[in-house]
Formats: sequence, structure tokens, C-alpha cells
Amino acid sequence: MKSLFHKQPWHPTTLLMVLAVWLTTAGNLPMWFTVWQLPETHGFKAVTTLGSLILILLSMISWLLLFVVWPKWLKPAGIVFMAVVTSSSYFMLTYNVVIDPSMIANVVHTDAREVRDLLSWRMLGALLLGVVLPGIWWWRQPVKTVNFKPLALRQLGLFVLAWVMMFVFVWLSFQDLASLMRNHTTLRYMANPFNSVYAVVRLSVGQASQAAKPLLPMGEDAKLLAVPASEKEAPLIVLVVGETVRAANFGLSGYARQTTPELNLLKAQGDLVYFSDVSSCGTSTQTSLPCMFSHLGKAAYENSAQPYEGLLDVLQRAGLAVLWIDNQSGCKGVCDRVSKWETQALKVPELCQDGECFDEIMLQELPKQLALLDPVKRAKGTVVVMHQMGSHGPAYYKRSPQAIKQFKPECQSSALQNCPAEQIVNGYDNSVLYADHFVSQTVKWLQAQARPTALMYVSDHGESLGEKGLYLHGMPYRMAPREQTHVPMLAWLSKPMQAQRGWRMACLQGQADKPWSHDNLFHSMLGLSQVATGLVKPELDIFAACAPGR
Ligand SMILES: [Zn+2]
Repeated sequence: MKSLFHKQPWHPTTLLMVLAVWLTTAGNLPMWFTVWQLPETHGFKAVTTLGSLILILLSMISWLLLFVVWPKWLKPAGIVFMAVVTSSSYFMLTYNVVIDPSMIANVVHTDAREVRDLLSWRMLGALLLGVVLPGIWWWRQPVKTVNFKPLALRQLGLFVLAWVMMFVFVWLSFQDLASLMRNHTTLRYMANPFNSVYAVVRLSVGQASQAAKPLLPMGEDAKLLAVPASEKEAPLIVLVVGETVRAANFGLSGYARQTTPELNLLKAQGDLVYFSDVSSCGTSTQTSLPCMFSHLGKAAYENSAQPYEGLLDVLQRAGLAVLWIDNQSGCKGVCDRVSKWETQALKVPELCQDGECFDEIMLQELPKQLALLDPVKRAKGTVVVMHQMGSHGPAYYKRSPQAIKQFKPECQSSALQNCPAEQIVNGYDNSVLYADHFVSQTVKWLQAQARPTALMYVSDHGESLGEKGLYLHGMPYRMAPREQTHVPMLAWLSKPMQAQRGWRMACLQGQADKPWSHDNLFHSMLGLSQVATGLVKPELDIFAACAPGR
């Protein structure tokens, strides 16, 4: 009899099936927990539904393994699969996220700082139980050498058997399963390792087809509506791209806590408009950022495999000086052809530690970086984008300096589920207080410049703080809760800017509560910068309705 500890060599196909059983059961615990807890699966029903789902998944996993794993690759492939299902399960259980192409895109573009924020003892425990211990056992198993022909026949036979088994169980429980998948769409993204395999394949195919196409230039007809007579009249416009700030916790949107006291004061002075109903393009930086700077808008952007130039290229082509300052994990391609400066290498003791800096570092560096831009372009006007660290989770408590913190105690763990809900919100709200301070300080700096200045602020996506058991962001858009897609946006215009443009703030205030989205950013930024091009759709430009003569 074969025991788990036998030293008789395994037939490679048998060992492969052991792996299939492990991946199906232990490797899919989040899915089995979820199905078990669903309201429509009670008692006996839960057992039959769960039973058939497990057997269907077992057939599918066997099918996949028989297809891709040959004895030569058996050991390393097994470890890779264990690592994939364990990390995917860990994130699903800890943050209730699901694994889809945009989530994998986030993983691929994550930098060391972000990884460090996610590490916790809990994660190390999961890796120990899911990869290290089973991996050691797996690696030590002796495997019989089998000739090609009998092995191929056996794998083929099992392949067919797995297919038949899958067919039979789907047929037997089709009604139940179909309604389950319809009512709980997230389940589709929970099946390990198919969620990851699908996402990786989908992403690479998408990227490969994008890479194969040439970048299309945009706005070749772009020009300035009026060329300033001197640098004193040349506008300076700052776009602050907020990170992970949701409208629900933004003081200006009527949140019960005053998380934006400084911006509130600026609004009272009459030069600031807060847009209360703004939807993001995506639910992650990776999806939102390129979409925000694209002329396409959400729907067309998602359906396009063609790479286009973006907003910053058009502004630059019109003759403006353009600068991107990054205190995040990069600009996801939108600043590739303009001047950029990253804070990561800086070691300013009062603002930076452990390789990351508070957002004020960008403001501190701004004058120096502006002076480095081409003076010919600067004389026509300058657009600066500042990409914030903002409220990037899960380590919210790291996103605000001590002096800013008003809400205590804060959750100090990256495994958010270990913290009481109010401590998570405290840490998050303190990060919003800091964003309020940073944006207000930027406005004050702009106020002090003797030229027309303006600032726009918009967050890239929102965040879940435990509502409905969800944490962080990155849910597929159509199933994402409003907390992840409703973002704060505001515009501030200096008095010289209002005078130069002939825009009345009262008119802009009238735009405040209309439903806007990231789709409006491209057109509004061109409007604000007074760039004329055939690409501009005035109906999408928030400022256009307030232009004189309209
Ligand atoms: Zn983001």
C-alpha cells in the first residue's frame, strides 16, 4: 500500500494527481469558504453544491496539469503552482479581492515599497503552510522513470477521463451552478489557479498586441489659443493626481469628519470648486492612470488595443512646458515623452525615511524642477503633474506625519482584518488630512506666484475599508462598490487666472454637482490650458460652459 511517506518511487502521473488534489482542496480554501457561506447553499444543498464544484474543479485542474506538466518539469512546476494558489488565496482571504487581469497588472507593476507594506507575519505563515512545507515534501518524493509511449497513453487516458468527469458533473448540477455563477459573479474570479492563469494570458496577449502596434501621435494640430506676451502672463497649472482617496471620506463631500479643513477654508474664499459626483475610470492606478490621460474616455479606452499619445503629449506639442513629478510607483507610461522627476532617490531626513517620502517633498522640489524646464516653452506656460503617494494602502498609518494625525488609535498592521474597523478608518482619515494639507500648501504656493495659476486635483480611484468585507481596491469595475469608484475632484483658480480667462467662479460652482468622471479630465485640462485641437470635445470640458461669450 502506498502511504504518504513511502519511499517507493511514484509514477509521475500519480504524483501529478496528488498535486491536482492538493491544488483543488487546500489551494482553493477561499472559494470553498465563500460557497459554504452563501445563503442559497444550506445543509444538504451546501454539501452537494460544494461536492460537485470540488469535483468539477478537480477535473479542470487535472486537465490543466496533464496538459502542461511533463515529468521533467513536474517538481518545479508543482512549486510554482503551490506559490501561485497560496499567494492568490492569501490576498483573497485577507482583503477579499479577486484575481483578474487588472489585479495581475498591479502585481506586475508593484515596486519594492509596496511589497514591503503588504508583508506581514500572517503572510509568512500562509507561505509556510501553503508552499514551504508541502513544497519540501513534494521535492523529496522519488519519481519513477517511465518510457515516453506508456506515459503519453496514460496521461491521454486521464485527460479524457477528466474531461468526461467534468462534463458529467456540470450536467448533473447545471441549474444550481448556473444560478450560483450568475448571482455571485466574484466566484468566477476565485477559482485557483485559473484566475491567475487567465489573467496572465489575457494581460500578455493584450500587451503583446499593443506592443506590436506603433504609438499613434495625438493632437498634431494642437496650438495655444493665445500666446502670452511675457512670462508674467504665462499660466502655471498644477494637476495633482491623488492616490486611493475616496469621496466618501473627503471632508468637502460632506463626510461626518472634517478631513479637509484647509481646503474648506480655501473654498470659503470663493476660488475653489469641489465636484461632488465624480466616477473613476478604473479601480486601480494601473487601469485609471492611462485612461485619465487618454482622449478616448473609459468605454473606448477599454476596447482599444491601439496605443495612443496622451494629454501630456498634446500639451507639450502645443508649446507648453510639461513636467511630471512622481512620489508613487511611476506614471504607467503617461509621462514617457515629457520631463519627469521621481522622489524615490531623495533622502531628505524630515520628509523621507526607508526609501519613501511624504508628498510635500514634491512641493519642496517644485521650484528647482520648474527652473530646469526649457525657458522658451516656459514663456508660453507650464503644466505640472504631481503624482501623490496619497492614501496608498494597506499601511495607511504610514501616509501621514505625526503632526497631522488627529484620529487615533490607528491600525498599525498590514493585515487589515486584524484591526478594529475604526482604527483602519482612523489611519485612512489621517492620510486624507495629509492630502488636504499637501494640496492646500500647493495652492498657497501658487497664490504667491505673480502670474495666472490654477490647480486641479482628482483621485485615481477609491478604496474599500472593510465595507461588505472588502478591503483595498482593484475589484473588476462592474462589480466594484461605489467606495472604489466615487472619487474627489476639485479645481482652484487664482484671481489672475480668473481674470485672464474671463471665467466667473459662480458659473463654475454651477458645474459642481453634475455627474462628471475621469472622461472629463483630458478635455478640461486642455480647456484650462487654453489648447486648441480637433481632439477637444467642448461638451466634456467642465470649464467650457463658463467661457465668456457662451
Ligand atoms: Zn491608485
